[in-house]
Amino acid sequence: MPYHCVVCVKQVPDTKNVTGDAMKEDGTVNRAALPAVFNPEDLNALETALQIRDQHGGSVTAVTMGLPKACDVLREAIFRGADRVVLITDRRAAGSDTLATSYILSCAVRKLDPDIVLCGRQAIDGDTAQVGPQLAEKLNVTLITYLEALEALENGTITIRRNVGNGHETVRAPLPVVTTVVGSANVPRPAAAKRMMKYKKARCASEIEQQVKKQMPDADQSARTQEAAKRCSALAERGLTIEQWNLDDIEADLTWCGLAGSPTKVHRIQSIVLAGGEYKQFEPNEASVTELVHELIADHTIG
Ligand SMILES: Cc1cc2nc3c(=O)[nH]c(=O)nc-3n(C[C@H](O)[C@H](O)[C@H](O)COP(=O)(O)OP(=O)(O)OC[C@H]3O[C@@H](n4cnc5c(N)ncnc54)[C@H](O)[C@@H]3O)c2cc1C
Repeated sequence: MPYHCVVCVKQVPDTKNVTGDAMKEDGTVNRAALPAVFNPEDLNALETALQIRDQHGGSVTAVTMGLPKACDVLREAIFRGADRVVLITDRRAAGSDTLATSYILSCAVRKLDPDIVLCGRQAIDGDTAQVGPQLAEKLNVTLITYLEALEALENGTITIRRNVGNGHETVRAPLPVVTTVVGSANVPRPAAAKRMMKYKKARCASEIEQQVKKQMPDADQSARTQEAAKRCSALAERGLTIEQWNLDDIEADLTWCGLAGSPTKVHRIQSIVLAGGEYKQFEPNEASVTELVHELIADHTIG
């Protein structure tokens, strides 16, 4: 029996390589100083969905909400095997906290009408792990967090092994479900060279508009609009259009979106940058581990 999987993917700043200029003076993230990457656990969610499709048939749709630049992760999803990708982008969504983000995603997911929705457990920038559970609540479907292995999928029922930290738990639920996937679930497949060659020029309408603006700085708006429309239809003919939806397309209630729909208030942001002297590196061998344990006991961190 074929299944339609929707995977929520997020473009995030690469927090693994944080340098001194990662934060601005006002305490916000200096996104220009950090390369943007595919949120790691979203790759595991995508891989789980691709395995479901490979085994049972059906299709995989990757969805992201963000700026047009977030199409980078959608292209990456296509290169790895996604059948369809959708960008949700709208100025009215700016400033969305997790509540508004999950609401907007829920409107898009409802429109796509999947059997299984997969999210990463957590995004490495916002780091809240709230979006998956909030999405399930808004869709009013069963939530299964911490998917580590998909044990069975038959007759519209899914069986999932959940990693619960100190062990695991196996749960079964009728579809549809929302599930959040942990990093240990699988090894994501690499991008396929053939798909990269075929889809590397795939673009959404906003990316085309930005490209035209850059290449025709002196042209008036109507000439730019005409040129963008021409390029978009040329891409569409070659099957290289990335679908782009705004809040009207997904029939979102604007009072639940952007700043208006975001009750979270950030009172204070502290910038913590580890200086060279503040950490010590231990070799992965018996002697170093013993030394580390002794230091932690002496420091009263453990024991
Ligand atoms: C007051 C406030 C204002 C904010 N304003 C902005 C802003 O203007 N611009 C901005 O970029 N961020 C903004 N943020 C951050 C933004 O709210 C979060 O990044 C976002 O809601 C996701 O939360 P998270 O990163 O903790 O994701 P988590 O809950 O940790 O993510 C879990 C999973 O949900 C899915 N997911 C999460 N976000 C998305 C997404 N956007 N698209 C698709 N799937 C997703 C992924 O599968 C991910 O692995 C703001 C946050 C607050 C509190």
